[in-house]
Amino acid sequence: MSLDFTTAEVQLAVPTKESLEHAEASLVKMLPDTGLGLEHIKKHLLADLAPGFTGSSRCPTYWAFTTGAVTDAAMLGDWLATVHDQNVQVHLPDETIATKLEDTTLRLLQQLLTFSETDFSGRLFTTGATASNLLGLALGREYVVAEAGRRKLPPAQISVTQVGAVAACIEAGIDDIQVLAASPHSSLYKAASTLGIGRDSVILVPLSEDEPWRFDMQRLREYLSNGAGSIIAISAGEVWTGRFATNGDEMGQIRALADKHGAWVHVDGAFGLHALILPHTPTYKHLNDGVAALQLADSITGDAHKLFNVPYDCGFFFTRHPSIQQAVFKNPSSAYLSTTALSIPSPLNLGIENSRRFRALPLYSSLLANGRTWHCDLLERQVALARRIASYIVDSTVYELLPDNDLDKIYMVVLFRARSDSLNSDLVSFINASKRIHVSGLPWKGRPAARIAIGTWRVEVDRDFQLVTQVLDTASRAHQ
Ligand SMILES: *Cc1c(COP(=O)(O)O)cnc(C)c1O
Repeated sequence: MSLDFTTAEVQLAVPTKESLEHAEASLVKMLPDTGLGLEHIKKHLLADLAPGFTGSSRCPTYWAFTTGAVTDAAMLGDWLATVHDQNVQVHLPDETIATKLEDTTLRLLQQLLTFSETDFSGRLFTTGATASNLLGLALGREYVVAEAGRRKLPPAQISVTQVGAVAACIEAGIDDIQVLAASPHSSLYKAASTLGIGRDSVILVPLSEDEPWRFDMQRLREYLSNGAGSIIAISAGEVWTGRFATNGDEMGQIRALADKHGAWVHVDGAFGLHALILPHTPTYKHLNDGVAALQLADSITGDAHKLFNVPYDCGFFFTRHPSIQQAVFKNPSSAYLSTTALSIPSPLNLGIENSRRFRALPLYSSLLANGRTWHCDLLERQVALARRIASYIVDSTVYELLPDNDLDKIYMVVLFRARSDSLNSDLVSFINASKRIHVSGLPWKGRPAARIAIGTWRVEVDRDFQLVTQVLDTASRAHQ
């Protein structure tokens, strides 16, 4: 069977009701005794089921969640990852290039995003930002309890991963591990829950109602002195607004506070980290500031399946503390080949999974096929489109831009609503009923709001701007 690697653009952001009904009716729900055969199943998948999928990758104006599409080069890499099905868990340099390629790809990412390959020598591909946040909090938990122990009874070496959180905290003389954040992504709560830190130990210290994504530095200082072990979790790219929790100056202060109090600094930059590739020009001053000095963090979360436009699932994780990473995630040394002496540590000792998909290959392929300039140009077009839509909304009498009217702070996310409650309550369903554009709906300060997140490489500023203004104009006329 030959496969075409490229998939054409489509106009529908989500399928029609008929396509969905047909797809559902055609699902084969009884396992056949005799297989249907490849030709039959190929027709079934392409003709019956594929029309029942969203256009999240193929329609340029699917703007819900934060999705990237898939570049042709990424698709080629992904197909080869499947063909060769390498299990990238143990570093076996005499048998496969896979772990070297994974490490190389992570280093290419570090070059592009300006993280020192030497300082951030802990690096790994994960299933996504959720997993990377879990890694960050797991390392943070290990560090802050050990640090509290060292400060109380030097040279104590207390390890949560060895004796468990309860015993380790008692030994270290602390009664809680707290995660201090401004407006964290929901996955941070899940990480806190999974790791025995607890959802209630995620403490919000937002600056104000108007700028909840920034830290109240005074209250942050107070929490840091309350005797608990502290992980400071920074949203570099708050999920609904795309705003940044810190500027370079605040990152410097946070680093100094963390050092003083034995705290850990984790950055969730799932889609925000990408702003590091923007040029340093007045146009992007606020974005440049938002990602300034993120390199001071102990651990970093990134997502490649968002703005890097590789297929799900692909996230990444960087840390300055590879030895803590291995302390937390190592398998007992007898379980697999001892690889500690090798130049590249085996990935199975660095993260959650043992057996792992070769998810570096699509990103390697796409990064090299497209190059640095292409990634930068693409993000500039995404920001340009977001700002043009935002500017249309600011000028409109029908809609209002959220969280405020500052166009210079717009990244690739546009949050807005209709001024009138009656239009606003139907706004997201009206836009999405067009099927040409798909956006997310969420509550913002107690009222519904719509959110556009532009992550696709298929973006075309003029064309996409025209479409969205058509849909928004129609919505306001239909409402009159
Ligand atoms: C998307 C996102 C996540 C979760 O990432 P997944 O890839 O869905 O696991 C975490 N944090 C932020 C800021 C995000 O945007």
